[in-house]
Amino acid sequence: MSNGISIRKILEDGKKLFSVEFFPPKDDAAGKRMLATAAEIQPHNPDFVSITYGAGGGTRETTMHYAKLLKEEHGFEVMPHLTCVGHTRDELLTILEDFANAGFCNIMALRGDPPKGETQFQAMEGGFSYASDLVALIRENFPAFGIGVGGYPEKHPEASDHATDLRNLKTKVDAGADFITTQLFFDNQAFFKFVNDCQHAGISVPVLPGLLPVLSLGQVQRFCTMCEAAFPSELEHALNESEESDQAKVGADWALGQVEELLEGGSPGFHLYALNKSQSTLRILDGLDRVKN
Ligand SMILES: Cc1cc2nc3c(=O)[nH]c(=O)nc-3n(C[C@H](O)[C@H](O)[C@H](O)COP(=O)(O)OP(=O)(O)OC[C@H]3O[C@@H](n4cnc5c(N)ncnc54)[C@H](O)[C@@H]3O)c2cc1C
Repeated sequence: MSNGISIRKILEDGKKLFSVEFFPPKDDAAGKRMLATAAEIQPHNPDFVSITYGAGGGTRETTMHYAKLLKEEHGFEVMPHLTCVGHTRDELLTILEDFANAGFCNIMALRGDPPKGETQFQAMEGGFSYASDLVALIRENFPAFGIGVGGYPEKHPEASDHATDLRNLKTKVDAGADFITTQLFFDNQAFFKFVNDCQHAGISVPVLPGLLPVLSLGQVQRFCTMCEAAFPSELEHALNESEESDQAKVGADWALGQVEELLEGGSPGFHLYALNKSQSTLRILDGLDRVKN
């Protein structure tokens, strides 16, 4: 049974929260590298780490396996992700039961993406069409779970407009979500506007900004296309002007600037898409320590 701490509780305490996202590595060698990254980040005491599900080839088994290792070997509060992709309602209940029995007490509840080449998400028979259905299932059957959901400052790519996307987000939050973690963005104004829009739409749970420390120009171009996130010309210029070997530093410094402004602007904390690498995350955390001390 659970012996962890609900992220809802951490947020209620009002402390600025910091979390790191990992993805399940593809093989043992990549797994060792991921755990080495986790060991390097651990002294900075993230409030929780999360591990994705399905995305990037991760499976139910690898998510559970690495979630356990992150918890047992590093003592992290781990929030496994779960998506509706390819699962019936009953299967989702079984997976949730497994997570609860393994001592996890927070879940990031997602719909998941349509398979490659398909533009429309198809629920499987007996499965769910939207993350809000999964949130409701968790809230009904595992009331103690802390539940996070995804939010999209620059709109979810499938949504026709911002207002519709916000209405759908409200449904998801009303189903029982405790907090929102956002999709990556590079322009803080998009986040501040989103938070404001959420408040006006009656969404009152904390919104945690998700930030990607860019590793290279090619990578940021790919991500921005995929997520339909704006790519500020200032960041593009800085990356263009730097040697390829320095681009990760430029990306980390941009993310550090974002974090500082977000925290000053009242953000409840920040979530880093670390992509299983430590260098940029550590540069950001060391930079923040310098500002604080
Ligand atoms: C923080 C974060 C973590 C993520 N982690 C993972 C991961 O681990 N694995 C993974 O595969 N993917 C992950 N993703 C990606 C995510 O699965 C995709 O963005 C997916 O396309 C949408 O998932 P969702 O949970 O936001 O879906 P939903 O909230 O269900 O929304 C999907 C779309 O449907 C619309 N919609 C919602 N409800 C309704 C309704 N009732 N009627 C009509 N339309 C509706 C929304 O406006 C939106 O356009 C993550 C995203 C974020 C932001």
